[in-house]
Amino acid sequence: MNTREEASKAISSFLDSDERVMLLTGTHQHEKHVLALTVVLTEFTAPATVLFRANSVPNAEQFLSRVVDLKSPPKTGIPLGIAGGYKLFVDSIRPTSWKASPSRVDVGVTYPIESLNADEGDECYHDLVSRKCKKIILVSCTDSRDFFWTEHLEPKRVVFDAEEENPEQHKGVLQSIEKMTYRNDISGLPEYAQSTPPQFLVQLHCDNCRSGRWAKLNEHYPGKITLRDADYGVYVAKCLKCGYEARDNYNWYGQHTD
Ligand SMILES: [Zn+2]
Repeated sequence: MNTREEASKAISSFLDSDERVMLLTGTHQHEKHVLALTVVLTEFTAPATVLFRANSVPNAEQFLSRVVDLKSPPKTGIPLGIAGGYKLFVDSIRPTSWKASPSRVDVGVTYPIESLNADEGDECYHDLVSRKCKKIILVSCTDSRDFFWTEHLEPKRVVFDAEEENPEQHKGVLQSIEKMTYRNDISGLPEYAQSTPPQFLVQLHCDNCRSGRWAKLNEHYPGKITLRDADYGVYVAKCLKCGYEARDNYNWYGQHTD
């Protein structure tokens, strides 16, 4: 049933394991990040530096108010001292907020990840890796996207549903997700690319068409940085205009160039 108790146990065992990435989804909106942070700030071996990465710094205050006793709005670069030997830092999914964040982080909690497109999610992930982050916890509020860019990270998947504590909410959230027909939509796609599922799309320069094109990947799109750094031949992209198969993944433009 994906109850609080089960989710809590799964988060604990993730913290004790060798696994690095966790994806926490489910219908218990506004509760999942609370549970994740609460377990981290009591069970991860202290002293520890924890970074909470929200969709904006002002939102972080609201999100954290249910987890810690905030005396003033949190600011980037200034840790909140938490009993038990934890330092809790705050920034946002926008790279401009990352400068003041500590160069070493033990646990990074990103929330809500439906605010991130594939390229932004991949960039956030790589930034946490560059801070030697041991545990990267990606948490959704509403599962309004498929989070396909996390697949190659092979995350431990934990689901926390409202079914047990609030069955009406559980049902309502599932119904509203079902109605979201544009779950992974990319805006401004040309007609020739529109019938391809968005999780397979990438932009590149097609040597045959001699033009920028949308192409279909052999795997789910992992994000621009991961794609650029992948070994030759792991990713193959077929031009959706002419059918030419490209393998120069270090050259591809990504999904969200602007
Ligand atoms: Zn082509």
